[in-house]
Amino acid sequence: MSRQYPIEKTRDIGIIAHIDAGKTTVTERVLFYTGVSYKIGEVHTGDTVMDWMEQERERGITITSAATTCFWIPTYHKDDKKYEHRINLIDTPGHIDFTVEVKRSLRVLDGAVVVFDGVAGVEPQSETNWRYADEYGVPRICFINKLDRMGANFEKDILSIHERLTPNAVVLQLPIGIEDKFEGVLDLLTRKAYHFEGEKGERIIEVEIPANMKELVEKKRHELVEKIAETDDKLIHDFLEGKEIPVEDLKKALRVATLKIRLVPILCGSALKNKGVQLMLDAVIDYLPSPSDLPPVKGINPNNHNEEERRPDDNEPLSALAFKIAADPFVGSLTYVRVYSGVLKRGSYVLNSTKNNQERIGRIVRMHANHREEADEICAGDLGALVGLKNTTTGNSLVDPEHPLILESITFPEPVISIRIEPKTKVDQEKMGIALHHLAEEDPTFRVSGDLETGETIIAGMGELHLEIIVDRMKREFNVLGNVGRPQVAYKETIKSKADAEGKYIRQSGGRGQYGHVWLKVEPLERGKGFEFIDEIKGGVIPQEFITPVEKGVREAAEKGVLAGYPLTDIKVTLYDGSFHEVDSSEFAFKIAGSIALQEAARQAKLVLLEPVMKVQAITPSDFLGDVTGDLSSRRAKISAMGERGTARVVDATVPLAEMFGYVTSLRSMTQGRGSFTMEFSHYDEVPRNVAELIIEGKKK
Ligand code: GDP
Repeated sequence: MSRQYPIEKTRDIGIIAHIDAGKTTVTERVLFYTGVSYKIGEVHTGDTVMDWMEQERERGITITSAATTCFWIPTYHKDDKKYEHRINLIDTPGHIDFTVEVKRSLRVLDGAVVVFDGVAGVEPQSETNWRYADEYGVPRICFINKLDRMGANFEKDILSIHERLTPNAVVLQLPIGIEDKFEGVLDLLTRKAYHFEGEKGERIIEVEIPANMKELVEKKRHELVEKIAETDDKLIHDFLEGKEIPVEDLKKALRVATLKIRLVPILCGSALKNKGVQLMLDAVIDYLPSPSDLPPVKGINPNNHNEEERRPDDNEPLSALAFKIAADPFVGSLTYVRVYSGVLKRGSYVLNSTKNNQERIGRIVRMHANHREEADEICAGDLGALVGLKNTTTGNSLVDPEHPLILESITFPEPVISIRIEPKTKVDQEKMGIALHHLAEEDPTFRVSGDLETGETIIAGMGELHLEIIVDRMKREFNVLGNVGRPQVAYKETIKSKADAEGKYIRQSGGRGQYGHVWLKVEPLERGKGFEFIDEIKGGVIPQEFITPVEKGVREAAEKGVLAGYPLTDIKVTLYDGSFHEVDSSEFAFKIAGSIALQEAARQAKLVLLEPVMKVQAITPSDFLGDVTGDLSSRRAKISAMGERGTARVVDATVPLAEMFGYVTSLRSMTQGRGSFTMEFSHYDEVPRNVAELIIEGKKK
């Protein structure tokens, strides 16, 4: 089998947008146009297009897949199959509670289209997502959508992008007309103007540049060419000498600059009114990277712990990352993978190097807008889904068993909020367990656990909304109704100083006794480092076989907490001394001794509570600014910035999660329904003493 699409003609991209900016509409149009072009490419008759449109109208396009494959021939190549590209669209979520999902998708996509609402411009979540894309080094193009809406203002949108996101965004297109007079899109590099005709804008017609725009076009084109030329030594020379630079050279240079994130092209249109989306797809091909443009992927060889690289090439050893597990109504569980190097073949055995076990690759499927396709293989740079994997979870590496490698996993933050949940009826008990287990498998930021004392089920996640959605999915997808309790903050415990302590578990009265004896040292670790256990036992004062039990006892005690029953974190524990008894020592005795020593040491090491602190941005009409900031202050907020956005005021703050329950409602009532806010996890911080006392008190009851 040779690959269907050369790697250079592959694009793995995501569409990122603030909620309501039009991501769904843009995606639908993309799938519609790419579907049409695919049909045209195959059959070359007008009728087929109509058939396809007819079918689509009846059925509606489904876009629920984590990675949807479609095909595109740039419009300037007409319908020449030679130039067909495969585009894998990777789903990115819209809501702020799911920033994790955004990060997860950024890990496996190579480029992104960022969609903006042409009326609202840059919104808070666009900023957050933009920063993540920077963090992951993802090249971008911008699509300013909704230019047909009342209040759309292209100049202002550009200004907000320049001010709030990057000064290196360059305007590649101008809208022809605006609001209800929005007619088409003008490409500055080629100086061509387009209208989009037909029921869904599928016929692209070149039109004259409107006379009143000619001057503006030249001015904007000059600015654009200068920006592009500045990124290329030869071009800047020509530019300064006043030479006309060929469009092809400008496009090439812009591609290079976009891949390096030195420039970000801005395009425009209206997805709802079917304008501009095809040209945006052209730009995806022209300016966003193919997998072969990327540097080699890095990983750790589990055998020798050395860093190794794999180039994006079919001839390299296989390396792939499982990035999403999804329940599928037809085939059960689907594991979505991105292949970085080599070829993942049906029927082969691969190594799950993260878990160190083998997986057999049964069926491979590729998801399209309205059908799925069985595939024999997934080549380097491509994505697909595997059916029926047994032991692979999100973030695991699947690799050539002869060339093991662990790719950098996707890091997921720990849940910050939990609620108790019980089934509405006893009959639902078992069903609820199964449903929650399924949901947890799909979503690594969602956890299920049991309370050992009460036997109740506790679910934990990233926010109130996250858990609401889980409970709702349980109802809709599994038909299980649950009663939930009040949301609880996921506090943690940590220590602020060093301490040593002894742990003894010795029982020696008659028969075989118990003997476990250890000395431990505890020290604080930097915030977020978790838990570390070091074995410094020398000369066999504790025999090797009892070390692991000690560690187990220590870990279990830390998990249970010492101060108020919350897990003890950011702590380093060193086992450095102890003693044993030839006959009476056992694994059990050492485990207990470890647990006693840890509790004792922690008590001496200035225990404190930690709480999750959220980054909050509240937006309010200026009239209510005082009320909003006053209210935030009463919630222990630290206000970090205040700004203006049009006529509204923006307040940035960090606020403990415990103070943010029900904030939606109070913000609305404070601002006559006009305020809004976004919130995401920031970090864990020490709980002030007076507050901590109340929490510990409450926990004891
Ligand atoms: P998402 O939340 O980002 O997925 O946004 P949707 O695609 O669901 O769009 C949100 C709303 O904006 C819907 O009512 C759409 O019909 C509307 N919308 C999307 N694109 C446009 C556009 O180009 N112009 C106008 N006027 N409305 C649009």
